[in-house]
Amino acid sequence: MSVVVSKARTGEITVAKFGGTSVADYQAMMRCAHIIKNDACNRVVVVSASAGVTNKLVRLSQENVAETEREEIISAIGNIQFAITQHLTCQANLDLEIAELLKALTICAEKQATAFSLQNSDQILSFGEQLSSRIFAQVLQTVGVNGHYFDVRQVMKTDDLYGKAQVDLTQLASNAQALLLPQLADQIIVTQGFIGSDQQGNTTTLGRGGSDYSAALLAEALQASNLSIWTDVVGIFTTDPRITEQARSINEISFGEAAEMATFGAKILHPATLIPAMRQDIPVFVGSSKEPEAGGTRIQRHVESSPTYRSIALRREQTLVTVKSPQMLHASGFLAKVFTVLAKHQLSVDLITTSEISVALTFDNPHGSTQALLTQAVVEELEQLCEVSVEHGLSLIAVIGNKIHGTKGVGSSIFDKVNDFNIRMICHGASNHNLCFLVPEADANQVVERLHETLFMQ
Ligand code: ADP
Ligand code: ASP
Ligand code: MG
Repeated sequence: MSVVVSKARTGEITVAKFGGTSVADYQAMMRCAHIIKNDACNRVVVVSASAGVTNKLVRLSQENVAETEREEIISAIGNIQFAITQHLTCQANLDLEIAELLKALTICAEKQATAFSLQNSDQILSFGEQLSSRIFAQVLQTVGVNGHYFDVRQVMKTDDLYGKAQVDLTQLASNAQALLLPQLADQIIVTQGFIGSDQQGNTTTLGRGGSDYSAALLAEALQASNLSIWTDVVGIFTTDPRITEQARSINEISFGEAAEMATFGAKILHPATLIPAMRQDIPVFVGSSKEPEAGGTRIQRHVESSPTYRSIALRREQTLVTVKSPQMLHASGFLAKVFTVLAKHQLSVDLITTSEISVALTFDNPHGSTQALLTQAVVEELEQLCEVSVEHGLSLIAVIGNKIHGTKGVGSSIFDKVNDFNIRMICHGASNHNLCFLVPEADANQVVERLHETLFMQ
């Protein structure tokens, strides 16, 4: 869908997003405040919850959490936030606001323990961003930046698919123009990533890690000239730097390559982040809020080099489902039935391979996710159609680059080096930007290290 906004009114706007570690404590927030202060183009700030808070809220949003545990969680969240506000001159008023939010959270948590609902789950999850954005607006004030809190739920209108809400782009564009843009004339807006609200005004969330996506959507709606994603690493690396010390930062990468990395699990960006940026051709910068002077990665449409191998992404907690039916032989419609069941349960398939009478599918099934997961109920429904086998504990490895299926020797360069590992499934050919396969979870780091050494260090 195209988003129509008037460019003349917007001027130079950078939307800057700070992730959880960047707003984890007072020192981290101060570093971010200076980043905003040092570049006048930074006009909209999108923050995640302080590090660790959303994980605590996920626990709180579950069914049957005992009262003592609920209290412990809420007090731990309060401790994280009050440890920041104690450094601020406006502490008293801000602490009152934080206490109000924690009180509201307590009520939602009590309700969840007695009458669980997905709607209330999202309400609970939203407190992390509500807290951090209120605090960060004040932190900006302390460094002399006119930062103001803005509740993104006024503009980020979504459907009511709680945990994985879809944003209404047309409403977002017109709301952002009407409610957000006029405020940018004389202040810096601090708002929340990850959350939105449905047509009834109930709070929704966009899926774990969704603040990157929120920031990109706001950049699109405001026709911003740049999007900056400030995180805890100096840009996008050739692979997750937590897996191998040899990983190195990439200066420049195309939208297409970076989007594949995000899709295939490079946690640095939420998978949907680059979709709005690509639609409006907004360059994206990824850098570290700990070392803003160290540079980072620029993601844009045109880049100078297009190497065959750009990076390796890893996505853990994959589930492989094999459905097998003799009826599939020479029959049509079987796959449609399988996919109807999956669609009904809002499950999306990542990889797929087929043989004569069986189909193998992979699902992202991460622990602690707020999105639909492959449950026993889905498996039982599939079993009414065919034989089903389910394997957990797998990791998806994707080699990302350019002309992957038009370059000779790619298969052997990759697989010759890892032929002592059990490769469970290979997908090659659907995209020119990737080749991916599954390995047992226990082997995943070693396979990535080995491939990185081969493809990037020689
Ligand atoms: P934030 O809280 O700022 O959103 P995330 O933890 O979501 O940060 O993402 C940053 C992390 O992504 C890094 O610390 C790094 O371990 C991980 N990561 C995974 N793949 C990559 C990659 N290719 N390049 C850089 N970081 C990566
Ligand atoms: N706070 C949310 C999460 O932890 C969103 C984000 O950080 O992007 O998933
Ligand atoms: Mg993130």
